[in-house]
Amino acid sequence: MPFDGNKWMDKKMVSYSEMLKKITQVYPGLMKVSDKSNDTSKAYKVPGFVGQIGFITSMSENFCGSCNRVRLTADGNLKVCLFGSSEVSLRDVMRDGCTDEELLDVIGVAVGRKKRQHAGMQNLAKLKNRPMILIGG
Ligand code: SF4
Repeated sequence: MPFDGNKWMDKKMVSYSEMLKKITQVYPGLMKVSDKSNDTSKAYKVPGFVGQIGFITSMSENFCGSCNRVRLTADGNLKVCLFGSSEVSLRDVMRDGCTDEELLDVIGVAVGRKKRQHAGMQNLAKLKNRPMILIGG
């Protein structure tokens, strides 16, 4: 994923379909495991093996429509999308003495403004955003 500082290069990206194709060539029994409605990864397993693998396909098959992930950064900002530059300072609202209900309202408005999907693979790398190390994983 193209975050500031990770030297993202489109041509080095391996898409979801390419990964599936390559793994299936070696493990033809690779099978889909059911995912929960807001999972961020697509789970698979190979019969006879312990464990499973998951693909996080943000770039080649985005799942923003079912994503319910939000981040609270160490400096108190709420991000409703990893790739969104918009942030709301919950720290400032709390330092101003808001009530719990007012804080919930601020969070609700921010979540309500969340975009339907990210800007698309070709545009993401050009957007200004915090590096992942300053967002939190
Ligand atoms: S780009 Fe944003 S909305 Fe889409 S999956 Fe990532 S964090 Fe969720």
